[in-house]
Amino acid sequence: MITVIGSMNMDLVVETDHVPENGETTLGTSFSTYFGGKGANQAVAMARLGREVQMIGACGTDEYGKMALSSLKDENIKTDHVFLFSDETTGIASIIVSDADNRIIVVPGANHRLTPKEIQQLEQEIAKSEMVVMQLEIPSNTVHAALKICKEHKIPVVLNPAPVNNFNEEFIDLATYLTPNESECKSIFGENIEQSLERYPNKLIVTLGEKGARFYNGKEHVFIKNFETKAVDTTGAGDTFNGSFAVALTEGKNIEEAVRFANASASLAVEKKGAQSGMPSLDSVLNRLN
Ligand code: ADP
Repeated sequence: MITVIGSMNMDLVVETDHVPENGETTLGTSFSTYFGGKGANQAVAMARLGREVQMIGACGTDEYGKMALSSLKDENIKTDHVFLFSDETTGIASIIVSDADNRIIVVPGANHRLTPKEIQQLEQEIAKSEMVVMQLEIPSNTVHAALKICKEHKIPVVLNPAPVNNFNEEFIDLATYLTPNESECKSIFGENIEQSLERYPNKLIVTLGEKGARFYNGKEHVFIKNFETKAVDTTGAGDTFNGSFAVALTEGKNIEEAVRFANASASLAVEKKGAQSGMPSLDSVLNRLN
């Protein structure tokens, strides 16, 4: 069983040709809702690849919470340890998409009610995991508590340090693998990516968008090029990469093979709109790899 500890959100997406100014009302062209939150996305990516996954997270008892929870169950993800708060809203992301740019407001709601207390209650459950996958859309001290438990029980952890403003230096030693994108890597470790990679061989894996990903294996820098694809929506690319990377590692693949697998999976996910809609099955990933 792989455990995800992290966020669950409902993404509310409005598309418009014109983003209104202060005091202005404008007509949008479409409205869609998508299940999201980096934690839920990572869990779905792994479940689609056929793995047994449990989610540790929090949502409200509102309609969005019910929908988010049942969407995870529909993906065969174990949700017994999703905490429900009746006095809090489920996390949402309000997203305005126009030709010119994207504007996003995230209201974390219940995600911020997942505290070290909830994590400590689940210590034994977490200790049974083959691997733990996390990101930073829950409180930083909650991530810290979870990392400490994993270290104590020798459970490997893939930590995607996003959003990066929630990063704590202590996570570097506690996590087994850190998977920032290029800009996150620079903001945590400094401008020189090569030097940063050399400081953390076989731990720091930097994703490079359509170019793939890289790491340092202790002797040389390893670049793993991505598969060519027609990207339609790169939302959730990182989450698919992380979930798939973790799946491959638990199957005994080395870092290089696991990154190749994760690239194949993420390159398929970006071919469809919405973070979770394009997340591939194991068969599709194996097809892309061959
Ligand atoms: P994030 O989504 O966290 O910002 P990246 O943009 O680096 O991180 O993307 C993570 C991974 O998703 C990449 O390593 C790659 O495998 C895949 N990916 C991202 N963008 C594309 C793209 N345009 N085409 C193909 N694969 C992509």
